[in-house]
Amino acid sequence: MKSEHLSKEALVEVIYGSTSEPEHLGTCSACREQYRHLLESRKNFVAADSEVPEELLSAQRRAIRSRLSRTVRQTWGRLVPLAATLVIVAAFLIDFDRRPTPSRQAPADDLKVFQEVFELVSDPAPQPVEPIRTFFEESK
Ligand SMILES: [Zn+2]
Repeated sequence: MKSEHLSKEALVEVIYGSTSEPEHLGTCSACREQYRHLLESRKNFVAADSEVPEELLSAQRRAIRSRLSRTVRQTWGRLVPLAATLVIVAAFLIDFDRRPTPSRQAPADDLKVFQEVFELVSDPAPQPVEPIRTFFEESK
């Protein structure tokens, strides 16, 4: 058995304008009463929705701004160690690039170094005597 009255969903569709007003609404007082009740509820809901206190809205805006600035600060807080790491790596690479590369004359230099080391090791005089010896050699 099907009800001839309009359903609540059909009345809501009429209120929101998705369907045209059915003829039944003009002839049935019960449906017209329910339609008027739904319309009144919607008006009250819309009116209540627009009465959001300004203080609440400004508090929400402040909270959003503080969260955004906190996010920005956290982002910078993460970027500083990364930037420091990059600077250290760049400094290491630049320093590594500046270091002299071993030349092809290294064996000759090594030979000279070994000769000097051998002379120092084979010299029986202790190292504190060296400045005095230099003094005597200059005065020759
Ligand atoms: Zn009806």
